[in-house]
Amino acid sequence: MVVESGSESAGGVGRPATALTLNPRAGTCIGILIGSTEIQVILADVAHTVLSDKTINLEIDYSPQTAIQHVQRLIAEAYEGQWQRQNGLLGVGIAVGGPVNPVTGTVLRAGGMPTWAGVDMRELFGPIFPDVPIFCDNESNCSAIAEMTWGAARGHDDFVVYTLDLGIGGAIVAGGRVLRGIAGGAGEFGHVVIDPQGPPCRCGNRGCIEVYASFRAPMAEAERHFGRALRLTDVVEMALGGDALCRALIARTGEAGGHGLGLIGSVFNPTLVVVSGRLAMAGDILMKPLAESFERFTLVKHGDVPDLARTILRPSQFSDNGACMGAVGLVLRHHGRLVN
Ligand SMILES: [Zn+2]
Repeated sequence: MVVESGSESAGGVGRPATALTLNPRAGTCIGILIGSTEIQVILADVAHTVLSDKTINLEIDYSPQTAIQHVQRLIAEAYEGQWQRQNGLLGVGIAVGGPVNPVTGTVLRAGGMPTWAGVDMRELFGPIFPDVPIFCDNESNCSAIAEMTWGAARGHDDFVVYTLDLGIGGAIVAGGRVLRGIAGGAGEFGHVVIDPQGPPCRCGNRGCIEVYASFRAPMAEAERHFGRALRLTDVVEMALGGDALCRALIARTGEAGGHGLGLIGSVFNPTLVVVSGRLAMAGDILMKPLAESFERFTLVKHGDVPDLARTILRPSQFSDNGACMGAVGLVLRHHGRLVN
C-alpha cells in the first residue's frame, strides 16, 4: 500500500526520516454527495488524487430512485478512460444533505431533505456496490473531515464548520473527532430557533437561523432581477466580477449568518471556524460582514482577550467539493489509509 516518496535529512542522530506516500495503484474510492439540489460523484485513488469529479443539478425533492440512476451513470462515466477498474473499488463514502443516524445509516426527518426521511443509505446503494463497504454521514460532517485532513483546519483538533449555502449546516470537531450526537443531529446550526414566532422553516419549526441566513431568498431576488434561472455559483461569480446587487445579497447573508455564528461562538468559544458552502467562494465579500456581525453578537469580544485567544474565522479552501472529498475521506479513514 505504501511507497517511499523521498528522503528527508533529519539533521540529527539516527536513521534519516523517509517520507511515505500511499501507492496510488492500490485501488480507488468513490465519494458521493446527495445534496438537496445536486448529486456529485468523485472518483479518487488512495492517495486522494481526484481522477474524476462530476456534478449534476436536480430539482429539489428528487427521489432516491432518481438518485440511484444518476449515481450509476456518473460512476460509469468516471471510470471511462481510467486504467483503474471498478473491481479495485475499496469503499464508497456518501455525504447526505441532512442528519444521518450514525448507527443505522438512516436519514433523519429533521433537516434539509425531508423527502429522504427514513431512507437507509446502505440498503439503497448496497445493490449497486456488492461486497464494497459503504460509509455515510451528514455533508457538513464530511466537510469537517476534508477540512481537518486536507483543508483550512489542518493541524486543528478543535474547530467548528459553519456552512452557508442554500441551506445552513455545520459540524463540531472536538479532540479530532466529529461530534455526531446520539441520533446524528449534532451541529445542525441552521435549525437553531432564534424566533419561535418567526416564519416557518422547512424543518417544521419556526424562526430557525436558516430562515434568515440561507441564500434561498437572495437567490430568488437575484433570479427576479436578472430574469433567468441562476445557480448559486453564478451569483458568486457575478459578485466577484463587481456586480453591485450580487455583492449586496452576499454581504446581507454574511451579516445574517454572523448573527447565527455569534450564538455558536457563545456556546463553543471555538479556536477556529471554517466557513464552508458555496458562498465561502465569495471571499471577503462574505467574510467581512460575517466577521463584523459575529463580533457584534458573540459573547467574547476581540478587545476582551489577547490575540492568541481570539476565534479565527477562515473560509474553506475547497471550492465546491469539500463535502464530497470528505466522503472519500470516510473510506480512507476506515481503511487506515489516510495520511495528511
Ligand atoms: Zn429549521
